[in-house]
Amino acid sequence: MDYNKLAELLFPHIDKTPEDYEAMFPQRNLPEGAMVTRLGPSPTGFIHLGNLYGAFVDERLAHQSGGTFFLRIEDTDDKRYVEGAVEAIISSLKFFDINFDEGALLDGDMGEYGPYYQSKRGEIYQCFVKKLVSEGLAYPCFLTEEELAAIREDQEANKETTGIYGKYAVSRNLTIEEIEANIAAGKPYVVRLKSTGNHDLPSEEIRYIKVQDAIRGELSMPENNQDVIILKATGIPTYHFAHVIDDYFMRTTHVVRGEEWLMSLPIHVELFEKLGFEMPTYCHTAVLMKLDEGNKRKLSKRKDPELSLDYYRQEGYHPQAVKEYLLTILNSNFEEWRIDNPDAPIDDFKFTTEKMSSGGALFDLNKLNDISKDVLVKIPAAELTKFMTEWAREFAPEKLSLFEGHEEYIEKILDLGRDGNKPRKDLVYAKQIFEFISYFFDDYFKIEDTIPENVSDEDAVAILTKYLETYNHSDDQSQWFDKVREIGTEMGYAAKPKDFKKHPEDYKGHVGHVSTVIRIALMGRSQSPDIWEIQQILGEERTRERIGALIV
Ligand code: GLU
Repeated sequence: MDYNKLAELLFPHIDKTPEDYEAMFPQRNLPEGAMVTRLGPSPTGFIHLGNLYGAFVDERLAHQSGGTFFLRIEDTDDKRYVEGAVEAIISSLKFFDINFDEGALLDGDMGEYGPYYQSKRGEIYQCFVKKLVSEGLAYPCFLTEEELAAIREDQEANKETTGIYGKYAVSRNLTIEEIEANIAAGKPYVVRLKSTGNHDLPSEEIRYIKVQDAIRGELSMPENNQDVIILKATGIPTYHFAHVIDDYFMRTTHVVRGEEWLMSLPIHVELFEKLGFEMPTYCHTAVLMKLDEGNKRKLSKRKDPELSLDYYRQEGYHPQAVKEYLLTILNSNFEEWRIDNPDAPIDDFKFTTEKMSSGGALFDLNKLNDISKDVLVKIPAAELTKFMTEWAREFAPEKLSLFEGHEEYIEKILDLGRDGNKPRKDLVYAKQIFEFISYFFDDYFKIEDTIPENVSDEDAVAILTKYLETYNHSDDQSQWFDKVREIGTEMGYAAKPKDFKKHPEDYKGHVGHVSTVIRIALMGRSQSPDIWEIQQILGEERTRERIGALIV
């Protein structure tokens, strides 16, 4: 067969040569050891934790090494294209401080290795499919859906591997005249790789590919033997082919992708070999799992809202907390490093693929919340105030007016109990923080808890009445507490909890019960930070109003 003739027959419109592309996309001029990584999301509109997890690895590898991190949009499947998805990807990742140096950016493509949308790279792919055809390494396949289904049925019945290979690859044997006739008759066709892998061999003779994965170490898998589709009937490449062409010509050095792609690695190895391209280093990341009633399972789009990145923004997780948490699941030595370097910026940590686990990475919201508490306690109140305001602007606009223009008030609230050597760690994420501090806002203030059992309703009213009578907003903390204690002892409550514990029969309760009554009147809750400090923030008028409201 004259393969050159076949190549011209299939791709008469392709006039560039492989050499042209080599010249257009030369090796990058980067310092020794600099890594080039990419994120290749499909624009489906759903951005998940896995994307962030991968992006984070990409970003660290590139930026730690003085390399480049670019965004390529894998939009060859246009059924899944969702308007605005690219903006959403960029802005979601930016929120987590992950920025691209190159690629499909908001103002269009930026960089010398584009186009960065696969849908615009048709000619490049076809040039290399043409090359493979002209070398007898790829061929058009005219099998119809029905024929493919019949082959599959046969294979399943005979318990054989399904797919097009060996004797099933019937289009391999077509003559050029037959192909010409099929094309003239308008029959649709795909282009398949003519695989040279062979599995019809005694098992000891099957060839294995060996790939050094940066996360998993040496991988050994039977070579590919399937005539996989490289170009669909529409002229659009499959993932396999686009990956190989793009990562070669965009000069990617490290391909970070999910472990779901491991299975097709032998196909990619064969494609790199047949095209004569040098392979990048693969880094296959572990699937994100969660514990569900004691069992590990994959995070699922349907069952787990926390899989979506939007979830973290809507709930108002601080990006630094999410980043810090992701690093703890990404690198086994991160937590230890954090203990040794409690105040170091997160980017000082030297991230390595070797310290990544290849088993399922366990994602645990409780752990994220714990880490978030530690992270937030270190963020200055002024910055947290800004963060809360921005969160409200986007996700809780009805609350925005409580924040905007009241920055000083909010800062004091957020700083409550955070100084000293045992700062309170009750702030976790914006939604929770709002709930936690909601009693500071009159519209949200409500009595949630009940007074202690050992305080009668009459006593409660009497406590509050006396409290209001003796209240002096300029009392300092100890003067204030002396007064509370006095009110209590006058009414038969022990001045110290331990006196009450020793002789419960002598008292109605203790000073703690008295202050709980005040706490509930002011905050509506029996648990809260320091009452005196809260009153200072609420101001005299509001304090008197709230106490007075319960004296009836
Ligand atoms: N478009 C692929 C995906 O959505 C990218 C895989 C890769 O990074 O190679 O999973």
